[in-house]
Amino acid sequence: MSEGRVINFAPGPAKLPEAVLQRAQKEMLNYKNTGVSVMELSHRSADFAKIMTMTEANLRDLIAIPENYKILFLQGGGTGQFAATALNLMNLKKGQCADYVVTGTWSAKAAKEAEKYGKVNRVLPKTSKYTMIPPQDTWTVNPDASYLYYCANETVHGIEFPFIPESNGVPIVCDMSSNILSKPFDVTKFGVIYAGAQKNIGCAGVTLVIVREDLLGHAMPICPTILDYKAQVEANSLYNTPPAYSIYIMGLVFEWLKEQGGTDIMEERSAIKAKSIYDVIDESNSFYCCPVDPSARSRMNVCFRIGGPDGVDELEKKFISEAQKRKMVSIKGHRSVGGIRVSLYNAITLEETFTMAQFMTEFQANYQ
Ligand SMILES: *Cc1c(COP(=O)(O)O)cnc(C)c1O
Repeated sequence: MSEGRVINFAPGPAKLPEAVLQRAQKEMLNYKNTGVSVMELSHRSADFAKIMTMTEANLRDLIAIPENYKILFLQGGGTGQFAATALNLMNLKKGQCADYVVTGTWSAKAAKEAEKYGKVNRVLPKTSKYTMIPPQDTWTVNPDASYLYYCANETVHGIEFPFIPESNGVPIVCDMSSNILSKPFDVTKFGVIYAGAQKNIGCAGVTLVIVREDLLGHAMPICPTILDYKAQVEANSLYNTPPAYSIYIMGLVFEWLKEQGGTDIMEERSAIKAKSIYDVIDESNSFYCCPVDPSARSRMNVCFRIGGPDGVDELEKKFISEAQKRKMVSIKGHRSVGGIRVSLYNAITLEETFTMAQFMTEFQANYQ
């Protein structure tokens, strides 16, 4: 670890691989003998075109994206896609209805946004406590839905889908903002996949969208052009100035991922990292309490309370300050749920995770 750096367990924007930051630093003033920084490069230049081409090629390689899926680099974040998915796809079928699997904050927000543009059918009963993913045979889906929407990893509540839903041919739309590229997965099961980069694949500013070709061209007339998948595919994501520097950083992360061994290795590491923290929780005699059902526990965001299921404020504050002393930062739970959240994205190393696990064990010994 470079001097002055800390162990950053932030939920997003999150840690980037140090090698990526160093490479960006090296190329900052003079990118590949262009004499300028990527930030100063024309988005219509041959040099930038190469960055786009390489970034796309590496991504296709990392998760085996077939030719009939288009890749877009857009702005507006995951939140922009809450609207974009509805604006582009609600019209696929008459009735303008879509099924939403609401399993936490982010899918709830997506459903609310989509309601502006069509009918939203929530397939699960309303709840204020998100702790699990009910089995699919209990969902009340609408066979005439234009698409089925879900969030692969709920970053705030620490809930992750261990499976890809069945949808009987209805296109599946998935928000993978906080777990994309943490494991291999079958792209062909999806209609649209999107992810803001700042959790697991880069820095804020760019949103990755992967869309199946046959779903293009159905946008509502009111859809802003910058969110219109077809218009952006035709413009090769250059309908207007793209977030060029963020795309470059994402490209460096993809290169790093390939050097590390790709998504298989990330899946292996994620399993080890998550297990090391959940094991401490499960063996703590309820000193640490994770509210999430073991079947849906996130490998990316480990959420827990300290001192009991509702947490003891004093202990949680102490935990955060003691962790800080050991250079472990950004572990406060989301303000809507409280407690602690340790985020274990791809850039977090095994060693960093074990440091946290060890600290948790010691903290319990000292403060129980
Ligand atoms: C962070 C996050 C979002 C929102 O992303 P923005 O880029 O802030 O709009 C959406 N979905 C998930 C799963 C997230 O983790």
